[in-house]
Amino acid sequence: VGSAPSGAGKSSLCEGLLKNVLGLSYSVSTTTRKKRPGEEDGVHYDFVSEETFARMRAADAFAECAEVHGHWYGTKRAVIEEARTSGRDLVFDIDIQGARRLRASYPDGVFIFIYPPSMGILEERLRKRRTESPEDLARRLSNARLEMREAWAYDYIVINDVFDTALDRLRSIILAESLRTSRFVPPS
Ligand code: 5GP
Repeated sequence: VGSAPSGAGKSSLCEGLLKNVLGLSYSVSTTTRKKRPGEEDGVHYDFVSEETFARMRAADAFAECAEVHGHWYGTKRAVIEEARTSGRDLVFDIDIQGARRLRASYPDGVFIFIYPPSMGILEERLRKRRTESPEDLARRLSNARLEMREAWAYDYIVINDVFDTALDRLRSIILAESLRTSRFVPPS
């Protein structure tokens, strides 16, 4: 489970992980946010209306959901249960509120905080992306400061300074975690 302030490069790192580590699948979240250019429905998110989201929430369809930067995001219970039944590892890209809730329900998860090299670099990355309005950008930057204080509640902190180095750090965490005695299944 990865969390990071907006612009820390978490989505690219998630993509890198999924390409480089066999057997990982992405947990596609549901959101009320508008699609950005290049995003695909069902791949990056399930994009739904506020009404549909509220209906799903009332039906207890989400293992966790939260309002982040003024939009709703949620992880479907069914996605987690299906992966657990089939023994697949999932990668979650969710905010700190969602990570806290998942930790309470699934304490065997591995929680990683992606830390930006500096606030200046974070701001520069967000500005270059040009996908947010000035108000949205300001809101994401002020949220970033609050989110970074939560990093200490995670199992690991990975600074995303150089992409390939950060990706290596993530791969090392996944490898070491997969070798934990508690996850050992004796060969038959
Ligand atoms: P973005 O709009 O930039 O794709 O994502 C904004 C924030 O929402 C990010 O911090 C991302 O991790 C978080 N997020 C995405 N999906 C979920 C989810 O299912 N649950 C929660 N709690 N946060 C999510």
